[in-house]
Amino acid sequence: MINRRKFLEGMVVVAGSFVGRRAWAQEGKPTLPAVISTWEYGQKANAVAWEILSKGGSSLDAVEKGINRAELDPENDSVGYGGLPNEDGEVTLDAVIMHGPPHAAGAVGCLKRIKPAISVARKVMEKTKHTFLVGEDATRFAVKMGFKEEDLLTEKAKKTWESWKADPKRNSYWSHDTIGMVAVDAKGDVTAGCSTSGLSFKVAGRVGDSPIIGSGAYCDNDIGGAAATGNGDVMMRFCPALVAVELMRQGKSPSEACAASLARISGKGYEAGGALVAISKKGDFGYARLRYADFPHAVRNAQMDEIRKGR
Ligand code: ASP
Repeated sequence: MINRRKFLEGMVVVAGSFVGRRAWAQEGKPTLPAVISTWEYGQKANAVAWEILSKGGSSLDAVEKGINRAELDPENDSVGYGGLPNEDGEVTLDAVIMHGPPHAAGAVGCLKRIKPAISVARKVMEKTKHTFLVGEDATRFAVKMGFKEEDLLTEKAKKTWESWKADPKRNSYWSHDTIGMVAVDAKGDVTAGCSTSGLSFKVAGRVGDSPIIGSGAYCDNDIGGAAATGNGDVMMRFCPALVAVELMRQGKSPSEACAASLARISGKGYEAGGALVAISKKGDFGYARLRYADFPHAVRNAQMDEIRKGR
């Protein structure tokens, strides 16, 4: 397996000069509906979201179903089924969904044996008065809601874990990614969400930034939304998705807002890498990256369906 993230994190430059470089130019006219997702696999997730958005469907359905596409893909080793496990060989999932019109959110952390974590997060939002459920209790809730308990560990992921375990010089974690998605539907309603299996070989019980509202994802129906990927243990200390949305409220473009949000992390001297995608309520796309040499992300509206390299 290619240790892509480790490779990229090796290419560190000085903070500030690389945050959001070239990100200011808005490419393409904003139109609604619109959807943006993290990483190359975001394009397939966007395709599912677009099916819904282009027919006048809601951004809430689009983000849930779009993210499901990544969660159910056994080849995606950092999200949902097929994700790499924790140090004990168990796959645990983190997800959040936030819907603009009611300013409501649902989240699950350390969810076990349920594939579509974002859908469980949506049930938390819609079927309870709570916002965040964790661990075995989140699984029990999911089963009550009709979700099927299944083994999330694929043969491929198990083999990767076994060879990690067998290596006396192993790193504690070496692979991670998150599907983060933000969509604005034809009515102008915003939804943001993300889902991940977190850091591979993480300490059992670890919950990252992804399900934390304002860290992994955030939206405000008057402004737009943002979603994050990267070193969650550090990123969650800065609530970068919330900060990006609040900077958009102050008039920054989505890319400017993402860059300024990540700059707060780089300013504290951490070596952590990460990236943000964002979209304004009008459908302007933006992104920024910190300590990553590039940040592929996928955008889709009526005029474009592309992966941007995010260099
Ligand atoms: N933010 C995720 C986590 O720390 C991983 C990633 O997005 O790369 O769990």
